Amino acid sequence: MRWMTFEYQGQQSYGLEMVERGQVVDLRASSENLTGEPLPMTLLGAIENSDRLVKVSEEIISRLEEGDTGELVILSLNEVQRLAPIPKPPKNVLCVGKNYADHAIEMGGQEAIPDAPIVFTKAPATVIGTDQPVQGHFHVTQELDYEGELAVIIGKKGKSIPIDEAMDYIFGYTIINDVTARDIQRKHKQFFLGKSMDTFCPMGPSIVHHSVVKDPHHLSIQTRVNDELRQNGNTEQLIFNLPTLISVLSAGMTLEPGDIIATGTPSGVGSGFKPPRFLHAGDVVEITVEGIGTLKNPIVS
Ligand code: MG
Repeated sequence: MRWMTFEYQGQQSYGLEMVERGQVVDLRASSENLTGEPLPMTLLGAIENSDRLVKVSEEIISRLEEGDTGELVILSLNEVQRLAPIPKPPKNVLCVGKNYADHAIEMGGQEAIPDAPIVFTKAPATVIGTDQPVQGHFHVTQELDYEGELAVIIGKKGKSIPIDEAMDYIFGYTIINDVTARDIQRKHKQFFLGKSMDTFCPMGPSIVHHSVVKDPHHLSIQTRVNDELRQNGNTEQLIFNLPTLISVLSAGMTLEPGDIIATGTPSGVGSGFKPPRFLHAGDVVEITVEGIGTLKNPIVS
C-alpha cells in the first residue's frame, strides 16, 4: 500500500496510489461512498488513525481486484498534481547526521564517526514534493548540496520506546533529500540554518506502508545528479539502525503519528568529492530508494 497527497481541480486531497494502473483512488471521496463516513481531511490526519486508513485501503484494493469500482473515485496520475505526502508537518523534520560510516569519513575523517546519533531538525516550511523546484538561495550559499535518505513515518504515539518494540511504531517509509548549504552549516556551527532554508526538504513521492517493505535495513539508496550516479549506498550500512534511532529519539521526547525521521545519507555527497561538486541552477537531483520510489527535484536560482 502506497499513499500520496495531491491537488486536483484546486483542492488538496490524498489517495491510494496504484502505480501499475497509473491511477490514484481519492480516499476521502471513496471512503465516504464506501462507509458513509469520510476519512480525515489530510493524509497526516489519516495516519493518526492508521488502523482505519489501512482497513479502508484494503477494502479498496479488493474492490479494484474484483472490478467493483462503482463507489470509488479514481483519478489518473496524469491529471493530479503530486504534493509531498505530508506537505505541512506540524513539527520539524527530525534528521540524523553522519549515520553511514563512509559519509562520516568523507565529511571529517575516521574521527567523525559518531558514538551516539547526531540529531538535528529541518523546519516544516522546508518541505516540498517531488518535481517541485528546490530554490538554490545562491545569494547566501555557494555550496548547495544533496543528501539522499530513507525517511521513517511514525504511526503510533510513544515515549521511552524499547528497542525491541520500536519497529511497531513505524507506519511507513518515504524518501527525503536533506538539502544542505554546506558553507552556512559550517559558518553557524549548529546545522539548523544551513539545513532549513525554504524548499530544502523534498519529500516523497509517496508513503509506503511498512507491511510491503520486508527489510528496511536492506534497501539500496541511489542519488543521481543530471543522470550521473553520485550516491550508491544501502541501508544495511546504517551505523544506528531504525530501532536504535526510535529508541534514542523517544527516550525523553514523545514521538507522535506523522513524525518524520530522516535516517542519514550514504557517501557521495557533493562536498565529499575532491574538488567538491556542488549543485547549480538547472541541475536535477533524483533519489531512488529500493521499493519506495524516486524523488526528483530540479534546482532553480
Ligand atoms: Mg542528512
